[in-house]
Amino acid sequence: METAYARFRDERTGHVADYIPALAKADPDAFGICAAGTGGESFAVGDADVPFSIQSVSKPFVFALVCEALGAAEAAERLGVDATGMPFNSVMALELDADRATNPLVNSGAIATTSLVPGATVEERWDRLRAGLSRFAGRALAMDDDVYASEAATNLRNVGIAHLLRGYSRLFSDPDEAVDVYTRQCSLLVTARDLAIMGATLAGGGVQPVTGEQVISPDTCRRVLAVMATAGLYERSGSWLYDVGLPGKSGVSGGIVTVSPGKGAVAVWSPPLDAAGNSVRGQLATRFLSERLGLNLFASA
Ligand code: GLN
Repeated sequence: METAYARFRDERTGHVADYIPALAKADPDAFGICAAGTGGESFAVGDADVPFSIQSVSKPFVFALVCEALGAAEAAERLGVDATGMPFNSVMALELDADRATNPLVNSGAIATTSLVPGATVEERWDRLRAGLSRFAGRALAMDDDVYASEAATNLRNVGIAHLLRGYSRLFSDPDEAVDVYTRQCSLLVTARDLAIMGATLAGGGVQPVTGEQVISPDTCRRVLAVMATAGLYERSGSWLYDVGLPGKSGVSGGIVTVSPGKGAVAVWSPPLDAAGNSVRGQLATRFLSERLGLNLFASA
């Protein structure tokens, strides 16, 4: 991990996301890596304990909560589980499938996923979602109010996607409420260490490695990891699987979590992104670690 950190800390390609104004303030030099095992151990280098908003890395964990609530078959039927091959915020992706299904790891499917979190009111759904993600992290997660306000003031595209979904009967609550809960979920503050431990929960059949809590079932873990493998890095998911050979999930604040089933997870945080919205150092460091640690799922030796 120290070699990965030293090798990529001076990498200067990529740009910090600025379509959410508050994210434009991120430090392009920030870089942290953490690996966590299913036995509860974790190893970190760099800025692994600096908080940042989780953004799209929240998506697989919210999908996991919805699979638990509805059952994996029903969740797949309602949301779809096929890669779109399109950017994360694509509106066209919604028109690809005759049923207008996408998958839980792009914005359209993620907003639909959030609309399926059980609860009679927005606050009930939000409490349940935040409590669920906090169980994965093993600590109470809080929102970054600045990031939330900044995104809520500018997320007309997500509002548009939610209304379109509702028009196709692919959204399961009020559209504006669904986007609000989704925007709150994206603004939850985590560290690379949190993400590694959350990922290690998915690696270990749903058992949180530090608290020992069974957060979700082993069946839900398998389903979530399958969607991460096919769609976790948006339109770069194929190249990611080709190079890294592991399920992963990225977000526009620069986090990427990568899961090695049965072993643990690696999380990297570094804000500069490539054109698809995936952390540049995050991809480089994860690919390096997957190779060095022999984690590629497709390797037979
Ligand atoms: N909150 C962001 C959005 O909806 C999340 C996108 C991402 O991390 N790729 O645009």
